[in-house]
Amino acid sequence: MKSICVFCGSNDGARATYTEAAIELGAAIAGRDLTLVYGGAHVGLMGAVADAALRAGGEVVGVMPLALVEKEIAHSGLTKLHAVGSMHERKAMMADLSDGFVALPGGAGTLEEVFEVWTWGQLGHHDKPVGFLNVEAYFDGLLAFLDHQKEERFMRPEHRDMLVVETESESLLDRFAAYDPPRVAKWISSDER
Ligand code: AMP
Repeated sequence: MKSICVFCGSNDGARATYTEAAIELGAAIAGRDLTLVYGGAHVGLMGAVADAALRAGGEVVGVMPLALVEKEIAHSGLTKLHAVGSMHERKAMMADLSDGFVALPGGAGTLEEVFEVWTWGQLGHHDKPVGFLNVEAYFDGLLAFLDHQKEERFMRPEHRDMLVVETESESLLDRFAAYDPPRVAKWISSDER
C-alpha cells in the first residue's frame, strides 16, 4: 500500500474533535510513509488533514476541478495539485492514484465520493479497502441504515462487512493493511440459480 485517499468535509463541522481526528489521520498516513490523496482544498477538514500530513513530512497530492480551485481555495503547499476538468475526472483520478479510501465526517460530497468507490469495490472493479473513521459516532445513523439494507436483502452481508469502521486512525490503517476483499457476486439472486 502506497497511498490513501481521504474524503472529508469542506466544512469544519460543529465539534473540534472532527478537526482533531482529521489531524490525527493526516499524521498517521504520513507516519506510515503513505501518500495522502485528497480533494486539494485548503478549507474545512480537507485542509486539516492535508496540513497535518505535510507537517509530518508526508507527500500530499490534491485533485481538484478547475471550477473549484477558487471556490474551495486550492491548497498552495501540496506536493502536487492536479487541476482536472470535472468532478467525474476528479473522482476517477483519486481512485486511480489510491490504494485505499477513508471517509472522515463530511457532507453530501463526502458521502457521494465514498459510496462511489465502495460500489465499485462491490462490483469487483477494484480490490481496495474502503472505511469510515467514525468520530463522535457521526456515521452511526448511516451505518444503521446500511444494516437495514442488508436485512432487507438489497445488499449482501459480505458487501456490508467490506466497510472498515473504526474510531481510531491507527486501527483503521492496520485493518487496511490486512484487508481481504470479498469474492462474491453483487447479485444475491445469482446464488439461487
Ligand atoms: P462536502 O462533504 O459536501 O463538504 O464535500 C467534500 C468534497 O467533495 C468537496 O471537495 C466537494 O467539492 C467534493 N464533492 C462534492 N460533490 C462531489 C462530486 N459529485 N464529485 C466529486 N467531488 C464532489
